[in-house]
Amino acid sequence: MTTTISPLIAGNWKMNGLRGSLDELASLAHMLISGENPRAIVVICPPATILSEVAQLGATAGIQAGGQDCHTQAQGAHTGDISASMLADAGAQYVIVGHSERRADHGETDDQVRAKAEAVVAAQLAASVPEAANFHDVIVAYEPIWAIGTGRTPTNEDIARMHGAIRQQLSARFPEQGPTMRILYGGSLKPQNAREILAVENVNGGLVGGASLLAKDFYTIISAV
Ligand code: PGA
Repeated sequence: MTTTISPLIAGNWKMNGLRGSLDELASLAHMLISGENPRAIVVICPPATILSEVAQLGATAGIQAGGQDCHTQAQGAHTGDISASMLADAGAQYVIVGHSERRADHGETDDQVRAKAEAVVAAQLAASVPEAANFHDVIVAYEPIWAIGTGRTPTNEDIARMHGAIRQQLSARFPEQGPTMRILYGGSLKPQNAREILAVENVNGGLVGGASLLAKDFYTIISAV
């Protein structure tokens, strides 16, 4: 059976962006509206402080919004934290969980990451969209830590090997949905290398940090799909 997976390109703005950064988003929206119809689903994950602005402005060009992290609980006494339902309420349709920078900066463990991912599904269910709560909506991003923000990337062969292994593992665990779950590559994805990396087998899109902050660069990556 041949399966088609629509690619997804996500911009992870990390701890960058004030309301003034929305100029770049407006430029990206303009490029997407006036350019060729992009083949990729485009997602921007800004800091939570500007999530609702990004969701609103992005919607004009079909850009979706996502959070960068969420708490495992839906609510409660957790100063400074944000729950999945709060992100959804602000307009997010995705959330990144278990980023290596969260693991390094905040000591997050696999158990916590798994609990967060389950929290997202629970929040989606609570929002009465049962179809959304399946593994087609779980996206895995493979990002070699040494490639994040360094300008260095693995060889295409290494990427193919890792993505192939992840695909195998997903398919073994979820025989129905594993073959069509998206696996994104992340780590120094740039306009210069996007075309070849996005063409590697089992690479179904990208998670982009630095290059997502400039509309022109991010648009070039989206167009490379
Ligand atoms: P980078 O970051 O594109 O700046 O390497 C990717 C990420 O950390 O998601």
